Amino acid sequence: MNMIDLQPSYSPLSALSPTNDPWDPIRSLQRHGRHRLTSVEMTVSNLCNMRCEHCAVGDTLVISEPSKLPLKEMLSRLEEVEHLETISITGGEPSFSDRTVRDYMVPLLQYARSRGIRSQINSNVTLPYSRYEQLAPYLDVMHISFNYTSAEDFHQIGFAKAGHHVSLEAAAKLYERMIDNTRRLSETGVLVSAESMINFRTYNKIDEIHKLIVEMGCKRHEVHPMYPSAFAKDLPVLSRGQMLRAIEQLLDTRDKSIWMLFGTLPFYQCSDNANERKLLRRLANEPNVTVRNDPDGRNRLNVNLFTGDVFVTDFSDVPAFGNIGSSKLDDLFDKWLDHSLARSVDCHCPAAACCGPNLLVKDMYYKHIDFHERSAVME
Ligand code: SF4
Repeated sequence: MNMIDLQPSYSPLSALSPTNDPWDPIRSLQRHGRHRLTSVEMTVSNLCNMRCEHCAVGDTLVISEPSKLPLKEMLSRLEEVEHLETISITGGEPSFSDRTVRDYMVPLLQYARSRGIRSQINSNVTLPYSRYEQLAPYLDVMHISFNYTSAEDFHQIGFAKAGHHVSLEAAAKLYERMIDNTRRLSETGVLVSAESMINFRTYNKIDEIHKLIVEMGCKRHEVHPMYPSAFAKDLPVLSRGQMLRAIEQLLDTRDKSIWMLFGTLPFYQCSDNANERKLLRRLANEPNVTVRNDPDGRNRLNVNLFTGDVFVTDFSDVPAFGNIGSSKLDDLFDKWLDHSLARSVDCHCPAAACCGPNLLVKDMYYKHIDFHERSAVME
């Protein structure tokens, strides 16, 4: 495979904003009239210094890991993706190893800059700032998790599955460093987007969590309901009513100066529940609020950099359906769209700017519903 030319060759991009979110698959669907692969997520680490109780990939975490594929193989496959608009880098904690930061993450971000596409890293930002400082000049979005109102919460949630004792003092140091790193990254111009999950722990204090996120200088607060994927499958499940009330509470009390992005909501405009449709109308009309359609398998695939295996998402039970060693990513994406699971959620209602439910959401709340028989009710 040829080496990639990293010289900048594209015009400057417009700023990420509530009207410009290239991770939302509705954009490429509207533009191309069909789903296209515009986003590639890469798993570069299975190491992490934390063991959160809700971690979607917790059962893949290890204490030492094998070597990764050569970077140039990944870059060549990215270069072939015709409509690529965004890349995401995830883990584990992707920056756990300084070598991964230098040899994989920085070059991948530089590639994104040179191609004129957007980038995101999913990190807990609890490591020394020097890790993130190397990434900041080339990075668009630093995505962090924030589900806490105090260091005690962080201790309880972040080390729930550590398997050994972690003192409150040690956890509190990491908590303070996370807050400090977040502030510093925001000050350098990186869009720090803090994600909170609505779950049994957070649903009645999501407004307090929001306040701390604003105080840390984050430019965006991302809110997703928590669904019981693999590692977190034993946690209590909230009803749709509890989720609806938590979102209303947040909308009533939020700081309107920061962008609020809701994702993987279990509510659709085709619902026969008037309260859920009313909430969606409110979300659509609130300033600085967006509801992102689910990217997994709609405009995004996940590549595991240890094996080259390609998945619909990094935490799905759906097995790999190809490998970058032998296939182009665009071809694998078309193969996925033909999969019976992809077809089970491939409805589209243009009036509601909706392109169907997330697979986990369908499985949890709408198992026996055929979304192809429904359509948006626009009042
Ligand atoms: S696209 Fe699917 S989920 Fe969305 S409103 Fe239409 S039928 Fe419902």
